[in-house]
Amino acid sequence: MSDSLPSTCDVVIIGGGVMGTSIAYHLARRAAGRIVLLEKEQFFGQGATGACAGGIRHQFSTEVNIRLSTISIQMLERFPEEMEQEIDLNFCGYLFLLSSEQDVVTFRRNVELQHRLGIETEWLDRDEIARRAPWLDLDAEPAIIAGTNYHRDGLADPHSVVQGFVKQARRLGVGLYTDTPVTAILCRGEKVVGVETPRGRISAPVVVLAAGPWSAPIAATAGIDLPVQPLRRQIVVTRPLGMPRDMPFLIDFAQSLYFHYESGGILTGMSNHNETPGEKLDVDHAWTMVHLEHAMARMPLLEQAELLTEWAGLYEVTPDHQPIIGPLPVEGLYACTGFSGHGFMQGPVCGLLIAEDILDGGAHTVDIGELRYDRFLEHRLAPEKNVV
Ligand SMILES: Cc1cc2nc3c(=O)[nH]c(=O)nc-3n(C[C@H](O)[C@H](O)[C@H](O)COP(=O)(O)OP(=O)(O)OC[C@H]3O[C@@H](n4cnc5c(N)ncnc54)[C@H](O)[C@@H]3O)c2cc1C
Repeated sequence: MSDSLPSTCDVVIIGGGVMGTSIAYHLARRAAGRIVLLEKEQFFGQGATGACAGGIRHQFSTEVNIRLSTISIQMLERFPEEMEQEIDLNFCGYLFLLSSEQDVVTFRRNVELQHRLGIETEWLDRDEIARRAPWLDLDAEPAIIAGTNYHRDGLADPHSVVQGFVKQARRLGVGLYTDTPVTAILCRGEKVVGVETPRGRISAPVVVLAAGPWSAPIAATAGIDLPVQPLRRQIVVTRPLGMPRDMPFLIDFAQSLYFHYESGGILTGMSNHNETPGEKLDVDHAWTMVHLEHAMARMPLLEQAELLTEWAGLYEVTPDHQPIIGPLPVEGLYACTGFSGHGFMQGPVCGLLIAEDILDGGAHTVDIGELRYDRFLEHRLAPEKNVV
């Protein structure tokens, strides 16, 4: 439990994951007044951010996501110097493995778009994939027929990124409070006026909702229907297997199955497409068995692996797999949530964009018009297709 809460401030941020802490830092860096960040758990970064695989990539199907990642990954590159925090950045590449002609056609289109935006994704044939990822059985069903790789995709450590933002936000005077759940957003007429917590009420003209998979029920207290659903996703990590640190992040796209380097072993995940929404944080062991069966078929050396740990986390999913960034239909209320499985990598730039929204009257570093909440009211969805 931290110090007593202030009764007023200029901006309240709800949620201390990568989004909330990045927003706090970027607002404080621009001297946005008295900023308070409220986190319901005992520590920051224990939600989706703490459960995440740490992947960072430019390989998306929409221009807006490629642009967001381009800037965010540059920010992560400067992070150790600017934030005085190492983040274990590893540009090992992301190797997408494709097994259907239809995915090949879609990825050809994605690669064209990526090239137009300066992202030099390579197209790989089977021989080249076998050379770069000799641990894989490319003939296991569904057989791999082609792949793509971008050498500036890779990995970073989510905990370190959150710690970097927390450290610098604190240094810049942000009030950071753990063990403090927001129970309601307070409105007067069409305006936000603060938040309610079990430790008291805070009056503020600006509130930013960055509560990840838990965002929708909080938005509902302000009368807003936020289409963000929690969806369980699981990860398994093996003990060391002698894997090289520069092995690419491997994604078997058709099976939503992935593998990456983790302390000499393998971290693997596989999305269960029959999972139903809900705040489920227990491990579904039946799914672990399905996952490991597919993982061992694709990467046979896992048959000899010892399990180190496994966990379940929550994606915060929207209907078009795109985030909701910016003003909501209550004056002074903003959202930064709904990243649908790729929010960690976009945390740095999204903090900057929310600061621009609040302080400059609109985000300008990247055109995020298509990520605004009103797209749901106007039925104007442009889905991201390259999701895992
Ligand atoms: C298994 C898994 C793998 C993933 N892999 C990747 C990946 O490789 N790359 C990638 O970019 N992304 C990945 N993601 C997605 C990424 O983790 C999320 O998109 C991102 O972390 C979202 O950050 P956030 O700050 O919005 O949410 P969170 O990290 O969940 O932060 C929200 C915070 O709000 C707090 N909170 C909730 N309710 C309240 C309340 N009422 N009051 C106060 N605080 C509250 C929570 O405790 C939490 O700390 C993965 C996610 C999972 C689950």
